Amino acid sequence: MQFGSDNWAGASDKVMAALVAANGGDVPAYGGDDITKRLERRMAEAFGREVGVLLVATGTAANSLSVTGLIPPYGAVICHRGAHLNTDECGAPEFFGSNKLIALGGVGGKISRGGLAELLDRPLRGVHHVVPSVVSLTQSTELGTVYSVAEVTELAALAHGKGLIVHMDGARLANALVHTGASLAAMTWQAGVDILSFGATKGGCLLAEAIVVFDTAHLERLAYLRKRSGQLVSKHRILSAQFDAWLDGGHWLELARQANAMARRLAEGMIASGKARPAFAPEANEVFAFIAEPQAERLLAAGARFYDWDADLLEPDEQPAAGETLYRFVTSFRTTPEEVDRFLALLAQA
Ligand SMILES: *Cc1c(COP(=O)(O)O)cnc(C)c1O
Repeated sequence: MQFGSDNWAGASDKVMAALVAANGGDVPAYGGDDITKRLERRMAEAFGREVGVLLVATGTAANSLSVTGLIPPYGAVICHRGAHLNTDECGAPEFFGSNKLIALGGVGGKISRGGLAELLDRPLRGVHHVVPSVVSLTQSTELGTVYSVAEVTELAALAHGKGLIVHMDGARLANALVHTGASLAAMTWQAGVDILSFGATKGGCLLAEAIVVFDTAHLERLAYLRKRSGQLVSKHRILSAQFDAWLDGGHWLELARQANAMARRLAEGMIASGKARPAFAPEANEVFAFIAEPQAERLLAAGARFYDWDADLLEPDEQPAAGETLYRFVTSFRTTPEEVDRFLALLAQA
């Protein structure tokens, strides 16, 4: 009954087997090995075009390098106020590139067209002010909601119209693709994404995150910045082998399908129980639900794992009622129906 986060789970068996296999033998370091070359080909196939790929150890590094690496220090990074970049990275984006973040509101953890347009329509007033340079969209969002391809396309077009670069924080991109049924190409470069943090850690690797850049002219610059930030992992095949096995044969989407299905099962069971109230229907692998605190305490005491959550990101009409607290439940590829049902049985008694 582990719903703390999807990074509590280890790696899938297939990814672990690939990691063990890659461990054998001596091969060139720093990405000069055959597994990394194979992964680069596989990435190009997966995206349906030539791409630049830079593997890093954490999503924070992927995000920070992606949003700051291609802009001047006076460029500003626009993101949702709940974005991981803004709230969970200890100022790393500001540290990496010394760029200012501009945080926007927006329903369901998403930047809205109106909100972005309002900001970008303000005239630039010279050297006293930062210049909006990147817009970052989190897919799936920090509220477990998903931007449609049409929404990404619209926001990206708006950003490009003002000369901005479009970044996608895809720590949970696989979950968003499963929800929408969109292809990797349709959700990213075809919709206008220029640079992507492609996360595999939460989706079933031990540690494997990629910066994917669609204009390969930027690759060299980003490669220098990756090294300079201490993110060029020398035993590179250990990252590549995980990512390669994860992408092979649609494994990554199978894992995300399981995680999403378990979130849906959990939310439906909560509603049926009458003891917990999802704030909105889950779209990816996270459920945000209201529970009375004493009942939540009993569930935690019985061994369930989940966190209480700040309701600040919810809309005024979604706020907890008196006596209710907001909790976040995250499912992973490893969550089983039995685990969800055990939790729901406990909830029914709580
Ligand atoms: C987990 C996560 C990341 C990456 O976090 P790290 O702990 O740095 O690997 C980035 N963005 C989002 C939305 C996340 O949930």
